Amino acid sequence: MKIICIGRNYAEHAKELNNAVPTEPVYFMKPDSALLTRNRPFFYPDFTKDLHYECEIVLRINKVGKCINEKFALTYIDAIGVGIDFTARDLQQKAKEKGLPWEKAKAFDFSAPVSSFIPVAEFEDMQQIAFSLKKNGDTVQDGNTKDMIFSYPAIIAYVSQFMTLKTGDYIFTGTPAGVGPVAIGDKLEAYIGEKKMLTVNIR
Ligand code: MG
Repeated sequence: MKIICIGRNYAEHAKELNNAVPTEPVYFMKPDSALLTRNRPFFYPDFTKDLHYECEIVLRINKVGKCINEKFALTYIDAIGVGIDFTARDLQQKAKEKGLPWEKAKAFDFSAPVSSFIPVAEFEDMQQIAFSLKKNGDTVQDGNTKDMIFSYPAIIAYVSQFMTLKTGDYIFTGTPAGVGPVAIGDKLEAYIGEKKMLTVNIR
């Protein structure tokens, strides 16, 4: 499986990192070795001094698709979860300055904690999902998918022009404003609506 991540998909977050609001989706990837499941702890890596959380809604792909029409794109998702796009912001900043790829900053081991998934049928309106992140009990990110610049269908149609989506792939759909650093000892808790979906203890 592969993990596709959309960058800069919430205008307020693009602004907080001094990035232009994009006119077409920006995406990058994380390998399967980035997955962290079942609320396992995350161990702060040695290679960064500025590890950030980015809480994001995650889509699970349920069939193979290439050049998917936006009209049918939602039929390629069977469940929704929440994840953290851990980012070594210091390494990413260096890469951005040099115009280099982001993988070192984004695709490292266990950089993608993912919750369990909720079937799409359980959502009244899939494109208006409230989600949030608490750090040590305080809400630090509070988003709603209705504020995404590129909708799920737009993302799926766009990405599938370039690469075939396969059953079991995940798409991280971008983070709202409020990203920030974590330290050893912190506890992150991600919610969909009122439901706690994911806990990540930083060790
Ligand atoms: Mg992100």
